[in-house]
Amino acid sequence: MPLIRFGVLTLLVASVSISGAAQNAAWFGTPVPPPVSDPRKPIMKHDDAFAPLPTHFTPRAGRHDELLDGAVLKTDHKKIVGFSLESLAAGDKVWGRRAATPAFMHTIEWTVNELKGAGLKDARTETYAVPGPMWAPLSWQVQVLGDPAFGAGTQTVTLQSAFPQPGGATIPSGSLTAGVIFVGHGTDADLAGRDLKGKIAVVHIRPEPSLFGSAEQGVAARLVEKGAVGVINAVEGPGNAQYFDPRFACGKAPCFMVGGNDGWFLQQVIGKAANAGVLDKLKVSLSLASEDKSGLTSANGVATISGLSAKRIVVNAHADGYFQGGDDNASGLAVLVGLARYFAKQPPPKHTLMFVASGGHHGPGNGPGSLVAAHPELKDGTLLILNLEHVGYADVVRGKTRAANNTGMSWELSVTEAAKAVGVTNESPFLIDLWRQAARCYGVATYQSVGPMVSGDLGGYRPLGVPMTQMIQSGTFYHSSGDVAEAVPAEALERAARFHAFLIEKADEASEALITSGKGTPYQSKGQSCP
Ligand SMILES: [Zn+2]
Ligand SMILES: [Zn+2]
Repeated sequence: MPLIRFGVLTLLVASVSISGAAQNAAWFGTPVPPPVSDPRKPIMKHDDAFAPLPTHFTPRAGRHDELLDGAVLKTDHKKIVGFSLESLAAGDKVWGRRAATPAFMHTIEWTVNELKGAGLKDARTETYAVPGPMWAPLSWQVQVLGDPAFGAGTQTVTLQSAFPQPGGATIPSGSLTAGVIFVGHGTDADLAGRDLKGKIAVVHIRPEPSLFGSAEQGVAARLVEKGAVGVINAVEGPGNAQYFDPRFACGKAPCFMVGGNDGWFLQQVIGKAANAGVLDKLKVSLSLASEDKSGLTSANGVATISGLSAKRIVVNAHADGYFQGGDDNASGLAVLVGLARYFAKQPPPKHTLMFVASGGHHGPGNGPGSLVAAHPELKDGTLLILNLEHVGYADVVRGKTRAANNTGMSWELSVTEAAKAVGVTNESPFLIDLWRQAARCYGVATYQSVGPMVSGDLGGYRPLGVPMTQMIQSGTFYHSSGDVAEAVPAEALERAARFHAFLIEKADEASEALITSGKGTPYQSKGQSCP
């Protein structure tokens, strides 16, 4: 008993002296954040005991199913990601396969060559002039300025993951320094009674399930309208990734996103400075120089497999993307190339298959919009448009161990892909019935629902007024440096490719009325058997 009492007392003394030391240590004892996560490497652990869910497809004799093997698709997938790494090596600031850049054009050229090699003789690059300029940052820095009031030896910390958001203008004097204000999620409730004027606002972003779904879209712009001189979007994400997404920009004001480690540090020191009564001494310095590039040219890669009829089924995948763009959209483009090779070896289809490696929609320009404008024959000559986008992202979920400092559960990599939202614009019962086979017969993870919504690259095709369909998901690393090649397992590419080959074959064979007849049309399901 006395021993136990002694133990408790020792612990108490120890904890008092630790917290006393922390008070005097730099940054109130808060560990300074690690460097930015290496964008060449995965942030999640990909070498654990558990491999991705396997695929089990038996090749059919004489059908060239081997062209859709995971290993084949993965080779192309890595090649496509390689164009992004070329952009990184060239020193592009917003690197990747950004539309109209050399790395993007190389991606299109490579795709066209692959399609030609597969026997699609008319494979070609169709260029288009990009309306409007492309914003490009030249240099930037985000620093949290050291002050002895935050503990002895507090040095200025550079938030290395800080990434400027599109539109930010060059700061006239090079940099600006201001006090900070933390606004939570930036809702009206968070902002009630807060004075943002002259401050740099820090907003907490939850990528649930991704920046695409985040409730904090548009908040940064509102904060500037309310008087903030700059905004730091602190993303609650794994590692210390970089993010780029216009929905977190704030016009001409300097607006940045920071990754998980930097965001955590910043919020910790804001809280601790406030508790110590020295929040007024906490300053952040932002620097930014940028330019607008105009007169740019972008492109689509286009090729066809002639059918018995000239009426088309369009298969689209956007070729552009930010950072490595492993899932967005090297995954879709690799599957598109695989499907073109596969269908080139099949008997002629009933409808002409048109494969489009699109200039995308990440700006500048719009690939599908430009294609539709350049091809009036598509208006009455298209039966169906199928989009391949973000088709194989290994799911990153929360929940094995509770992290220190109550920041929630650790991030974990799942053996399955993220479930995807299936969209069929006209809600054709026939097409929906085909999608039912995705999970049952091909192991493709989808939501247990289908709707008419199709986000992503299909917007530019809307003027054609024909049925469009896709599955899509945007995960934790959407539009970030964490969307690496390793985030897309070969098995995921294979599942997506085999299902889409089935979908195209069935849609091609079907009567056109089954595709064009929308919601409510009587349709007898083909039942539970898999092909
Ligand atoms: Zn995207
Ligand atoms: Zn995309």
